[in-house]
Amino acid sequence: AAGRTPLMAGNWKMNLDHLQATHLVQKLDWTLRDAKHDFGAVEVVVLPPFTALRSVQTLVEGDKLSLKYGAQDLAVQDSGAYTGDISGAFLAKLGCTYVVVGHSERREHHGESDELLNAKVKAAFRHGLIPILCCGEGLDVRKEGKQVEHVLAQIEADLKDIPQDQAKTIVIAYEPIWAIGTGEVATPEDAQEVCSAIREKLAELYDQETADAIRILYGGSVKSGNVAAIMAKEDVDGALVGGASLEAEEFAAIARYQ
Ligand code: PEP
Repeated sequence: AAGRTPLMAGNWKMNLDHLQATHLVQKLDWTLRDAKHDFGAVEVVVLPPFTALRSVQTLVEGDKLSLKYGAQDLAVQDSGAYTGDISGAFLAKLGCTYVVVGHSERREHHGESDELLNAKVKAAFRHGLIPILCCGEGLDVRKEGKQVEHVLAQIEADLKDIPQDQAKTIVIAYEPIWAIGTGEVATPEDAQEVCSAIREKLAELYDQETADAIRILYGGSVKSGNVAAIMAKEDVDGALVGGASLEAEEFAAIARYQ
């Protein structure tokens, strides 16, 4: 929507080893180049597992590819005795532009609280990474009609003490949990309702100019067949795509929704 560059991000989750990742990135790049994709007009981002990031970096830098990449999570701490964790400093060194923070699968399986996610947003900015901050309600909340207040409470807590100059660059992904990986996509109106409420909240927390600069993505069973209708909504500036990002032609078609 107005003045904001659309962003299509593929969240690979725990799929693809580093060889498969290289193959998919190559195929995605060929497909988009063949279609004369304007990467400046619609940004394309892949979010591989940590173990594939070095291979993706080598390919993107070596072949001067126009797509960008990022990680699916990061640690709050910068280094030290945190076995198994990955620092934002390492991700920055690997050329990551983005990092997902607060995906519903991490909130659910790893008990990530809004307080922790606020610290992760700060850690991302500390290392020059742009957080893709995820929010969204479960089916119980949706059934009660409380999706807007649920999501706004997450946003307010996750952005606590984030200064305006950083907030301006953040990406927010609204992902209703009942629509993730289920094949059940929210209607464009459902997506717009929550995305516009998020933007109003951002204007309240910062100012209108900041709110208007922030990209808000929709995520949840996005495919090439339903992306255009969702993207037509004023406050939807892109998509966070799970399953459909694992296939080059399908993800390229999503990026070329227009
Ligand atoms: C996701 O994991 O962020 C997601 C939206 O998954 P899917 O597109 O498969 O629903």
